[in-house]
Amino acid sequence: GTLPGWDSVEDHVREAHRRYAGNTDGAVADYIPVLAEVDPELFGLAVIQVDGGLHDAGDAQHPFSIQSISKMFVYALAIQEHGHERVREIVGVNNTGLAFNSLMALELNGGHPMNPMVNAGAIATTGLMPGATAVEQWERVREGLSAFAGRHLSLDGVVYASEAETNERNRAMGWLLRSYGRLDGDPDEVVDVYTRQCALSVTAHDLAVMGATLADGGVNPITGERVVSAEVCRDTLAVTASTGLYEASGEWLFEIGLPAKSGVAGGIVAVAPGKGAVAGFSPRLDGAGNSIRSQLAIGHLSRALGLNLFASA
Ligand code: GLN
Repeated sequence: GTLPGWDSVEDHVREAHRRYAGNTDGAVADYIPVLAEVDPELFGLAVIQVDGGLHDAGDAQHPFSIQSISKMFVYALAIQEHGHERVREIVGVNNTGLAFNSLMALELNGGHPMNPMVNAGAIATTGLMPGATAVEQWERVREGLSAFAGRHLSLDGVVYASEAETNERNRAMGWLLRSYGRLDGDPDEVVDVYTRQCALSVTAHDLAVMGATLADGGVNPITGERVVSAEVCRDTLAVTASTGLYEASGEWLFEIGLPAKSGVAGGIVAVAPGKGAVAGFSPRLDGAGNSIRSQLAIGHLSRALGLNLFASA
C-alpha cells in the first residue's frame, strides 16, 4: 500500500512535532567540542514521499552535520562502484553489539570490520571510494551524497576542524584496519575523508530526500535523477535495519520496524521502501548516541502512517 493522502500525512507530521517538542531528556554530544555548543532545543521533522510529497515541521530547514548518517549513503555508493560481493568481502553485515566508536569490534572479529554503520566499518568503506587521491575520493563522496539530497551539499568547516583536532581514536582505527589489510592507502588520509563526510552540512529535509531516494529504488523523487541501483538500495537497507542505531538497533527494529540511521549531531532518517522516508533532527542523545526526540517522533509517524515493515495488517 501507499501512504495516506497528503493532508493526512501533513497532520501527522505536525502532531508528531507537537507531541515531543516538550521532551528534554538526554544530552548533546560533547566529544566533538563544537557539537557541545549547539542549541539543544532545535527540533525538526520531515517526511518525503516517493511520489514527491513534502512535509516539514519545526526546524526542518536548520543545518547540522550529517555525522554517522553519511555511513549509510557512502556504503550505497561503494556497493554501486564495486558490487555486492567485493564490498561484502571487506566489510561485514552483522551488528557488533558495541558502541559506534568501539575498537574492540574490530579486534574481536580478527580485523574484519563487522558492519559499515559503526566507525571501523565506515572508515574501511570510505577507503573503497574511487579516486586517485584523497581529494578525488572526497569529491566523489560529496557529489554522491549531494545527488542523494538533490542539492549541492557543503562542508561545515567548523565541525570538520573541531573533529579533525580530536579524532585520535578514529585515526587509531584507520591504522588498525591497515594492519589487518582492510585499508589501502594512507590511513590518515582515508580518516580525513571520513571526517569530512561526517561534517557535511544537511537539514532534516535533506535527510528525508536522501532516505526517500533509497525508498524509491535509487531514484531521487525530487530531481528524478538515478543515484544508485535498486539492488544497492536493497543491500543498504538490509544492513541498516540491523545496525543503523548501533547497539540499540535490535530494540529499534522491534519497536519501529524500519531501517534507520542516526548521527551524533542529532539526525535520524528512517526509510520505508516504496513509500518514503521520515527524518528527525534534535541534538539531545541517549546513551547509545541516538537523538531522543527524533526516535520518539519517527516512532510515532511509523505507527500513524502504518510503516512497520513486519506488520501484515
Ligand atoms: N564523526 C563521528 C565520529 O566518527 C560520527 C559518529 C556518529 O555520528 N555516531 O565519531
